Amino acid sequence: MSFWFTEKQTSAFGITGKVNRTLESEKTTFQQLDMVETQEFGNMLLLDGMVMTTEKDEFVYHEMIAHVPLFTHPSPKNVLVVGGGDGGTIREVLKHSSVGKVTQVEIDGKVVDYSKKHLLDISCEYGNPRVELIIGDGFEHIIKSENRYDVILVDSTEPVGPAAGMFTKGFYAGIAKALKKDGIFVAQTDNPWFKADLIKNAIHDTKEIFPIARLYTCNIPTYPSGMWTFTMGSKVYDPLNVSIDKISDINGKYYTPELHYASFVLPKFVQNLCR
Ligand code: SAM
Repeated sequence: MSFWFTEKQTSAFGITGKVNRTLESEKTTFQQLDMVETQEFGNMLLLDGMVMTTEKDEFVYHEMIAHVPLFTHPSPKNVLVVGGGDGGTIREVLKHSSVGKVTQVEIDGKVVDYSKKHLLDISCEYGNPRVELIIGDGFEHIIKSENRYDVILVDSTEPVGPAAGMFTKGFYAGIAKALKKDGIFVAQTDNPWFKADLIKNAIHDTKEIFPIARLYTCNIPTYPSGMWTFTMGSKVYDPLNVSIDKISDINGKYYTPELHYASFVLPKFVQNLCR
């Protein structure tokens, strides 16, 4: 029996789609996990009732979290992904031949297991010998790491439950320590319509720790408001100074050399969050 699913963004607004059937529904140690088959967007992963990814539009988020920083760094070799248990971010990272190793620290092994079962094109790089998967807390991994990574990608859930600590100044400071002296990090920082304060804090904290701090956006139909942001902190390299001929074809569907720069062009109300 099909039914309408709504992810409530506020008490008065939500995002709705029709679900054909529920494939999995489990309370894991960390969160409520649901995998559903939708009519418009293919299989969809939900954590605590929030849309994490869908088969149809996942490419936007995964290409944008990975390729903007990986083309900003001239030679990324050692990459860390925090969260990202569906596997889409590591799939994109591995398209960069300079990357020798990608370490993924995901707190909830069930997200990986169910993604391997129901999100086949997203989780397809688990098993690649360049991937080390650690089931554990990304925050703790960061605290233990020093001068280790060229690029760190924070592909986390919203700042509730296990990801609560990931939107704090202490976490960004830990990331700075875990990065090499010319390292770059990117974190997903939600949307400017309903989470303006989260973005403001993220970019302000990043500015205090990194010499280069920038916000960029993309459009994702199944995320609240459709407009999504990423916050980048960089010790040396500026994403706006990358030479366009250094950006090669990644065989994707969203990211292009032109979009690399265009994604940093912000509407006025979003610019205002970065002041
Ligand atoms: N793309 C999504 C979005 O923006 O809504 C997020 C993807 S989802 C796969 C994020 C993952 O972060 C989840 O699988 C969750 O288990 C994981 N996560 C949350 N807190 C974590 C932590 N402290 N350490 C490692 N992974 C964590």
